[in-house]
Order: sequence, then structure tokens, then C-alpha cells
Amino acid sequence: MQTTTRVAVIGGGVVGCSVLYHLTKLGWSDVMLLERSELTSGSTWHAAGGFHTLNGDTNMAALQGYTIKLYKELEAITGLSCGLHHVGGVTLADNQDRFDMLVAERAKHRYMGLETEIVGPEEIAKIAPVTNIEGIIGALYDPLDGHLDPSGTTHAYAKAARMAGATIKTHCKVLQTTQRSDGTWDIITNKGSIHAEHIVNAAGLWAREVGAMAGIYFPLLPMEHQYIVTEEVPEIAAIIDAGGEHPHVTDPAGESYLRQEGRGLCIGFYEKLCRPWSVDGTPWDFGHELLPDDFDKIEDSIAFAYKRFPALERAGVKSVIHGPFTFAPDGNPLVGPVPGMRNYWSACAVMAGFSQGGGVGLTLAQWMIEGEPERDVFAMDCARFGKWITPGYTLPKVIENYQRRFSVSHPNEELPAARGVRRTPMYETFTEMGAVWGAQFGLEVPNYFSHPGEPDFETPSFRRSNAWGATKREVKTVRQGVGINEVHNFSKFLVTGSNARSWLDRMMAGRIPQPGRLSLAPMLSHKGKIIGDFTVSCIKEGTFQLTASYASQDYHHRWFLHNMQDGVQLENISDHRTGFQIAGPKAAELLQTCTTTQVSSIKFLGVVEMIVGSTACLVQQLSYTGDHGFEIYCDPMAQLSLWDTLWNAGQPHAIAPFGMRAMMSMRLDRFFGSWMSEFSPDYTAAETGLDRFISFKKNTDFIGRSVAEAERVKPPNRQLVVFEVDAIDADVVAYEPVFIDDKVQGFCTSGGYSHHAEKSIAFALVPRSSVTDTLAVEIEILGQRCKASRLMEPLL
Ligand SMILES: Cc1cc2nc3c(=O)[nH]c(=O)nc-3n(C[C@H](O)[C@H](O)[C@H](O)COP(=O)(O)OP(=O)(O)OC[C@H]3O[C@@H](n4cnc5c(N)ncnc54)[C@H](O)[C@@H]3O)c2cc1C
Repeated sequence: MQTTTRVAVIGGGVVGCSVLYHLTKLGWSDVMLLERSELTSGSTWHAAGGFHTLNGDTNMAALQGYTIKLYKELEAITGLSCGLHHVGGVTLADNQDRFDMLVAERAKHRYMGLETEIVGPEEIAKIAPVTNIEGIIGALYDPLDGHLDPSGTTHAYAKAARMAGATIKTHCKVLQTTQRSDGTWDIITNKGSIHAEHIVNAAGLWAREVGAMAGIYFPLLPMEHQYIVTEEVPEIAAIIDAGGEHPHVTDPAGESYLRQEGRGLCIGFYEKLCRPWSVDGTPWDFGHELLPDDFDKIEDSIAFAYKRFPALERAGVKSVIHGPFTFAPDGNPLVGPVPGMRNYWSACAVMAGFSQGGGVGLTLAQWMIEGEPERDVFAMDCARFGKWITPGYTLPKVIENYQRRFSVSHPNEELPAARGVRRTPMYETFTEMGAVWGAQFGLEVPNYFSHPGEPDFETPSFRRSNAWGATKREVKTVRQGVGINEVHNFSKFLVTGSNARSWLDRMMAGRIPQPGRLSLAPMLSHKGKIIGDFTVSCIKEGTFQLTASYASQDYHHRWFLHNMQDGVQLENISDHRTGFQIAGPKAAELLQTCTTTQVSSIKFLGVVEMIVGSTACLVQQLSYTGDHGFEIYCDPMAQLSLWDTLWNAGQPHAIAPFGMRAMMSMRLDRFFGSWMSEFSPDYTAAETGLDRFISFKKNTDFIGRSVAEAERVKPPNRQLVVFEVDAIDADVVAYEPVFIDDKVQGFCTSGGYSHHAEKSIAFALVPRSSVTDTLAVEIEILGQRCKASRLMEPLL
């Protein structure tokens, strides 16, 4: 047996085979797949084989589109059939909210080049005649929807990989994985030992067990899932005999998906009475068996389906498929380099292997071979869950996700499962003050504070929410007096050592400040993509604090460790340094009453160690609200004492707390972009205007410099522009299409309502060639084309 390989992919389901194929496609042929049984021996063999592009995350939708288009390529390469049926599909809406969501999805598809369409009830009846359209107000039609043969497709991936030089070992069970000091791996199997540079965990149902061999906890869980195949249905038989095929029908209200199978139908459910499977671990002897039929848990769903698809009730049941497949807490895959590990890659928790498997394989292969994926894949990056995550969190979140598979997802929605797992000392105080909480990376963060008479629950909505009044009040407090909130949801890194400055100079494209100063510094990838927007504070020479997005801390930490050098110590202190920010015209006056340090001597972007009340703090003069403000960092043990000091001192100034809704409203009128909206690995600094923070003067070959330099000579085709929108009752969220001269030529990166300026604001990427001072466009919000005009200056 071959005993060395560059990459060992563990698992021969559709995902492992796709990873193997894509590694060869991108140029690595010394790759091997290890499968403990035959290919497809996990979830893959019993999948219903359906595929679709619809996904709330735009980049995930794009990767699903890639996956679907790949099947023809596989057939052409291998001569094998994937059993493709591109029959198209409709997703039904039986209420306005769901319809709004579909209309918003359709709008996104316009610039993604996906040919979806909104159709009315009569058209639905024509396209999908087994549907009872009573109560249906419309649907999204996607011509790319369809189904395939799961086994044939997996074997096509495998054959294409083999043809390009890959090796596949079946009946080769991985028993142990041990890392050598040089970062390579010894993989012990029942057929001997293999030495590999990299491991890819694509072990599907057994991903947890395979991960545990290397000491890794993967937050995923199998769920039981059931679909029913009927005997012949006369309506379907008639369509087939006439040379046609019935399209897929997804009925979110009934939590069901339906398609033609042979001359009958196949219907599956995401039922509320769902059940996790093998919570404590997947048995090694589980293989090609199914779970016992269980009609009790889908009884209500079946009753609903009989009304929506009356032909079903008359059809006999031919077979029932009931099997497990895995989910991560948010339902998206876990992909990428595992944080804290060398040469260990994840391709797990792929709950829709036939919609997503191709995209997962492509992404992982790009990451391994080219150093980074071509687009922002944070939605499926395994770094999006931190070390704080436990099976106790994963279980309720996975159940919630399964139950919500077909629920409407609103942009302002906060999900209830597994809440409160991470709280700061301020939690009780803020709760008593009316905090309405959101969750970021497991951490509770106030969205707004509800006063008596104001809603203490923000209604999920695509339109302006009922938090409008409270948000407006909080914005006014900051802009006219002084507001306070926590700085707990910033990530914080401490960088020290003799080479700290030179290392930061290489990592950050921005200027590294002198002692007592801070700077705003973009961080670029080798391809010049924005992978961070940091505040870099020099506390003293050789000691720096970095702050950025709390939710991206493991993403950033992984990158820092990957690029570490001698003479630098790096510590993630995100949860060991907390504190407050105070912002507004009264902020300086307030702070002065709490300290003997001369506050007026702290310059804009100044960094000072000082005592506030009785607490040793690091104080920085800046605020993301765009006001005169201070970030005041302290030890969490002293946070309550610091709170008492600031809160008491703030009383004469009518200090009030403010939440994330107000903060995100205030950044709009100051034209501040936001991480993962304007600033993400999808864009370059020159596209989004972040290049103004790049230090081209510095004498360092910082990562991404060559691309940034090239963009100075030849600016990119797109440019970020801020618009005032004639919106009615809904504002831009993200990815709405921008029409210029009646053609979709751009899209929004983010937006919202500026309570200060009393304007609806949108940030959008549009062709540089079309940008003028007076550019007027139309932006589609929930199906309405709203006029929008360019804003040249922040609205002070
Ligand atoms: C009833 C049902 C219907 C479904 N319908 C659809 C659908 O319509 N469309 C869709 O896209 N998805 C569907 N799915 C989900 C789909 O099946 C999964 O997304 C997909 O199969 C996941 O593939 P995978 O390769 O990640 O994992 P798996 O298929 O579980 O493959 C993992 C492989 O790893 C091997 N392995 C594990 N441990 C080891 C080891 N130690 N050594 C060597 N090999 C090992 C296993 O033997 C197995 O072959 C359905 C699932 C179910 C249960």
C-alpha cells in the first residue's frame, strides 16, 4: 500500500470525493482518500439527491450555483451519469413576510446572474400542477433546481479525481491520527500507516470521532431525517407520458420539499418534532442501515401536505427513507483550516451535500493550494465558532436550526436557543435597564434599551422594526449629550516583543503608530483582499493592543499564528480586557470628573494609561459613532466599579446606555464602513476606499502590497459610493441590486436608517466609470425600485 501522500482525505462521501476532485483540478495529484467501507457509506447513499441555489448567505448561494453547474462537467470528464434532472423548482409563499423574503432573494439573484423569477398563483398552478394554490400569494421559481443520483454523482467525483492521479483506498478505516513535530501527520489505519502532509476531515457522520483522534471538537450533530416515496401518481404519470417532468415544490409553511420520483412523488419534511441522533457519538458499526420508520413525528406535516398536494393522499407508500445527517449550530458547513492546528482541514457538517459539496470542495482546495479562497466564505468557515463552544451549546442550536430550516430569516432576528452562554459582569445591570439582547459569537450584546412603554422584543421584520423609537432616542442621547456602551464585543489582541513593531508592519497595510497613538489599519491577504480592519494602539514601544470584530477573533488569530515570527508574543485578550465607550459632546467633560489626568490633553487617536475612579484603564480617544468619544478598557474584575464611576459622573449630563442598533445607525451618516459588509475578503481596499489607510510610504513589504500598489496605478472597476435612498418603510440591508440607466450595474454592501440625519442610507459598489458627483440610481428594496442619489460628504 502507498504509505505517503501530500493530502489524506478521510471519508468517501460526496464531500470527501468532491474535495479530492478539486485538489486534483487545482493541481495537486499526490492526494489520497481513505474510506472505511465503500464510497457513499455515510449519509450520502440515502440522500434524496435534491439540489437548489437558494441560501440566505449570498456567497453560499453562489457556491451552490457553482456546485449545480459542475455536474455536467463531471459527466463530460468521466463519461459517468450523475442522473441529472434539471426540472426547476418553486418555493411557495403563503404570507407577505415569506413573499418579501423571496422577493429580496430574487433581487440578489439579479446581479449574481441567477435566472430566478417571482411567479403568481396561476403560474404556479401551471408550472407545478400537483400544488393546491389556495392561500398561496406567490413563489420563487428557480430553473436550476433539480435532483440527481447521489451514488452516481459521488462515483463521478471519485472517477474524475482518479483520472487526474488521486488514489482512493476503500475498506481502509482511520484509527488514529498523530502529528509529528514538523506538522505532518501519521495516520494509522486498519491497513497500515500513512504519512501525510495534510489531513482533511470529511468523515460526515463520524467527523466528531475522527476529529477527536486529533483532540478537536467539531460542533456538529446528526439529525434524523425522513422522506417518503409513493407508488405511481396518475397526475405525474400523465406528465411523464406527455414527455414532461414535474418540478420541485418547496412548501415552507408545510416544512416540506416535494419532487417527482419515477412515476410517483417523493416528499421529505423538516418537522418541528425532530430528533437528534446519536448525540454522544456515531457508532462505528453504523453503515448501510436505515432508521425505523417514524410517522408519528411527521403526522402533522403529512396532514398539511395532503391539503397542499391532494394527489399524495390518494397515493400508496412505496418506501420510507429515514436516516441521519449532520448539522452545525447554524446549518452551514464547517470548512477550512482548523484554528489552533497545523495542516488539519475541515470539510464537515455539510447538510446539503448535493447543493453545497462542489462549492465546499472548490473552496477547500483553493485554501490549501492557493492560500486563500477566492471569495468571503466566513459563513462556512470553521473559525466562526470559538473555543467556548461545547456540546451543550451545539445540541439546542442544531435542533433549532433543523426546525427553522424553512422558516423566514429576518435581518434583525435574534434566535432564542442556547442564549446567555457568555455574559459580561454588566449583564444584570443592563437587563434591569431594559436591555434587549442580541448574540454575537455566543456573547450577549445589547441591541437597544427598552424604556417603559417601548417594545421589549424586537419584532423580526424586513421593514423598519419596532425598535425604531428606542434607537432614535439613543442616537439623540449620544449626538446631543453622552451615551455609554460596552467594548466587550471588540476582539482584542496584545502584541509584545522586540519584533512586535516590525511584525505588525508586515501584517498590517496601515501605518503602525508611535507610543501613545493609535491608527486605523487595514489587513490584506496575499491577493490584496481585505481580511481585517484593525485599530492598532501603541501603549509603549514593543507593546500594542489590536482591536477588531469580536466574532472574527479566531479567524484573525489563525491568520496571525500562520504568519508568526520570532521575537513576537501574541495573546488573544478579547475576554480579559473589557470596559466601556462613552460618546457625545459631553463625553470629555464626564471623563474629566472621574480622573486627575488632563482629558483635554488626550488628542484624537491618542492612547493613555490612566486611572478612572479607582480603576487602572487604557483610554483611547475615538468612537465608532463618529462623535467625540473615548474607549475605556479595563480588567473585567474592575468593570462594575468603572461602571459605577462613569454612570454616577454621567448623571448631571443625563447619560444613557445605547445599543448596537444605535451604533450602526450612527456610523451611516459618518460614512463609516463596517466589517463583513464593506470590509470583507470579497473586496480590495481600493474598491471600498479603505486604501486611504494604507501606508504606501512605509518601507515594508506588507502582505498584499503588490496588489495594493497595482490598484494605485490602475484603479479597480468598482467603487464604493454612499447614497441617500427615497425609501418608504424598509431600508437597504445588503446585496440589493443597483440600477443605473435601467440596468443592474451594482449592489449594496449595507445600509439602514440614519436617525441623526433622518435619511435612509445605502453603501453600494458601482462601476467606477459611472461614478459622478451627482450619480442618481435606483435601488430595489423588497421589489420596489427606490430612487437614490449620491452623497458626497458625511451628514454632520
Ligand atoms: C434522508 C436524507 C435525505 C437527504 N436528502 C438530501 C438532498 O435531497 N439533497 C442534499 O443535498 N442532501 C441531502 N441529504 C444530506 C446529504 O446526505 C449529506 O449532506 C451528505 O451525504 C454529506 O456527505 P459527507 O460526505 O459529508 O458525509 P457522509 O456521507 O456521512 O460520508 C462520510 C464518509 O466518511 C467515512 N468515514 C467515516 N469515518 C471514517 C474513518 N475513520 N476512516 C475512513 N472513512 C471514514 C464514512 O464511511 C462515510 O463514507 C439527505 C440526508 C438524509 C439523511
